[in-house]
Amino acid sequence: MSINVAIDGPAGAGKSTIAKSAAGELGFIYVDTGALYRSVAYYCIGRGADTKDREAIAALLPEITPELRFIEGAQHVFVNGEDVSDKIRTPEISMGASNVSAIPAVREFLFDLQKKIAAENNVIMDGRDIGTVVLPNAQLKIFLTASAEERASRRFKELSEKGEKVTFEEVLEDVNKRDYNDMHRDIAPLRQAEDAVLLDTTSLDLEQSKEKVIAMIKELL
Ligand code: C5P
Repeated sequence: MSINVAIDGPAGAGKSTIAKSAAGELGFIYVDTGALYRSVAYYCIGRGADTKDREAIAALLPEITPELRFIEGAQHVFVNGEDVSDKIRTPEISMGASNVSAIPAVREFLFDLQKKIAAENNVIMDGRDIGTVVLPNAQLKIFLTASAEERASRRFKELSEKGEKVTFEEVLEDVNKRDYNDMHRDIAPLRQAEDAVLLDTTSLDLEQSKEKVIAMIKELL
């Protein structure tokens, strides 16, 4: 049986960085489910659709074939054969992903793909509803969080290094807005699963956070 570790939490808590490096050390596959929602947003925005328009987005889904490929251990997201991994990391796509992820048809559309990868591999899967909806039987569930200011400051640094022209205030507003959307949507809202371990990384650096996650996973093995 494959080992499934679910990591959920709000935007910018460090889920992807921590999960990716822990997976690398343990030989697990790291699955970033946010990239799937981002890829749907990317396609729909490219087609000129409003990401809040439920009917328009649902109508576009049959045209989309999202795919996750693991190249030298790194996840790449493909949409209809095009590698969009880098193009989906903009603030516009972040907000678009948060919008489309509130649409039940979109969540249903991406569900099987996530389940299948977890059934076939040892995975660390990160997202918002992995412990609560996608992998309710995961052997380990972690809810990773940090204060909104700390998360915005990490995101701001990341975007600035990539040359994105944003201010800290804009990033903080974005983080707060996305958290609110993610926690208040009707379907699969972001929340800590009852059996998840809470890990607050506000005053931890990446290395310390990663060590804590690795220690929890090693206990399982
Ligand atoms: O994790 P990331 O910031 O890339 O996710 C982008 C958006 O996709 C989130 O704000 C959230 O709305 C949505 N998402 C989700 N469920 C997941 C992963 C991401 O709703 N499992």
